[in-house]
Amino acid sequence: MHLRKFTDLKDGRRTAWLLTAGPGLASVKPATTGGGMGDVWDVIVIGAGSAGLPLAIKAAERGAKILQLEADYRVGGTLYWSSGQIAGAGTRLQKQHGIEDSPAEHYRDAQRIAHGSIDPVVLKLTTEHAGPTIDWLMDLGFAPAPGTPVAGEAHEAYSTRRYLWGTQQAVSILNVLKPVHDKLVARGKIDLRLQHRMTGLMTDTSGAVIGVRAATPSGEQEFRGKNVVLASGGYAANAKLWTQLTPKVPLCSYCNPYSRGDGLVAARKLGAVVDSGDKFLCTFAGTRDNPKDPTSGTFLLLSPGGQSSRRIWEIFVDHTGKRFMQEDHPSIDYRERSLLSRKGMAMHVVFDHGIMQNASPIMAEPSAAFRARFGRNPNFVKAKTIAELARKLGVPAANLRKTVTEYNKAVDAKVDRKWNKAFLIRRIDKAPFYAIKAMGITVVSPAGLKVDKQLRVVGKSGKPIRNLYAAGEVLGFARTSGDSFVGGLSLTPALTFGRLLGEHLLKW
Ligand SMILES: Cc1cc2nc3c(=O)[nH]c(=O)nc-3n(C[C@H](O)[C@H](O)[C@H](O)COP(=O)(O)OP(=O)(O)OC[C@H]3O[C@@H](n4cnc5c(N)ncnc54)[C@H](O)[C@@H]3O)c2cc1C
Repeated sequence: MHLRKFTDLKDGRRTAWLLTAGPGLASVKPATTGGGMGDVWDVIVIGAGSAGLPLAIKAAERGAKILQLEADYRVGGTLYWSSGQIAGAGTRLQKQHGIEDSPAEHYRDAQRIAHGSIDPVVLKLTTEHAGPTIDWLMDLGFAPAPGTPVAGEAHEAYSTRRYLWGTQQAVSILNVLKPVHDKLVARGKIDLRLQHRMTGLMTDTSGAVIGVRAATPSGEQEFRGKNVVLASGGYAANAKLWTQLTPKVPLCSYCNPYSRGDGLVAARKLGAVVDSGDKFLCTFAGTRDNPKDPTSGTFLLLSPGGQSSRRIWEIFVDHTGKRFMQEDHPSIDYRERSLLSRKGMAMHVVFDHGIMQNASPIMAEPSAAFRARFGRNPNFVKAKTIAELARKLGVPAANLRKTVTEYNKAVDAKVDRKWNKAFLIRRIDKAPFYAIKAMGITVVSPAGLKVDKQLRVVGKSGKPIRNLYAAGEVLGFARTSGDSFVGGLSLTPALTFGRLLGEHLLKW
């Protein structure tokens, strides 16, 4: 076992220890049986994040003997990272606002936005049970942000107001789940083991799952259970696995560093179907803080309006030095797909000294910190002339010069006939000139485990692998939201499927 120190990507302050199953793991200590509440648990839950918390709570309330293994030193998982936007039909909140809605309408709307690309079984399960999940969170004290539910924000709009979030993003959800979970742990109803990283699944001779192996602070241990649920999240923090499962898309991720795809790797070894890695849509847009580290993604505030309310003063060019999209197009889906279609899912954000002085920074940080990036980080380029900027970016200088000249004419004429950009406030003509090498950012991973309507993991034979279940992003974002961003369709199914498994799908 190796302990690797990492710095929390979100706030840059937290440091923690990531348990990695490195070479020699087995030799650290022979596997021992992890006892506690008994030798065989009714349910072993891998992960204590968005899906794992509701699952453990509901199963414990039903009286199950539960073991919950969590690799991190704390519970919460991606709830510390996520924007926390969720969606469900027929909620009490909607009724209070006089909004008529139904699971069938939610289903239709989601498939409309995703062009029919969402797994129908999974979407049906989500839409039928998402409303009660939101009601349950509200019973626990979750307070929707003022003004919600809305039809759309951040993603393409639903046709009905069913989309909401808390005032502290997904931490608002954690804040209502954690106290209930804490109590059940304190009362001995959930045996929670932090810093226990599942490294593999154990099977009997018939192939049925009978337990898990885990790297723990005291060596490798084995735990036996009647049901094992993989609620271990996605794989966007694992660059190597990303290349295997999503080979056509370069990675620039911003996510929980524990989203390492351990559940996928373990289930695949048992013959589980892992698919849909190619159904990908990027988030608009980011850059690598460390150009060599694909998991060091950081956001650029390049969406007009939205929470940052930033206007788009800059132009975006691709590897040819030409513009390729309306930079401030109102549809986020348009912007995401335009960027996805570029070589390397990459673009250069081009601006000048005048814009640097007058626009708010493209990153959520003070101007001085933003300016200091240029010259220090190879993705932040500064030059005395457009030709020099082109050379540093590796794009044809003649093209970039022509692009900037044409754009300046559009600013003068107050109309951008070619790309229809609406915000034409300043020419790009004052040295020094700047560019940021940007790309599509990844917050969720598309590939995942195929499951049936009882959330049993399906093997290549088409039959479920006995005693093995899955919930959350381990199913793949493409399975729950298709090749599009449909509001709330990663977090909502994670919470909902965790709840359903705990409430009635699991048997012991
Ligand atoms: C920046 C960002 C914004 C987002 N915004 C939204 C949004 O607004 N709406 C939406 O629908 N979705 C959103 N998402 C996605 C959504 O939040 C996630 O898909 C969802 O929270 C994943 O839930 P999960 O339970 O599958 O994984 P997690 O919440 O990550 O939980 C998995 C847990 O398993 C643990 N674990 C991992 N491996 C092991 C192992 N081997 N052994 C033991 N434990 C392990 C992890 O430490 C973690 O605690 C966002 C994601 C990000 C990163």
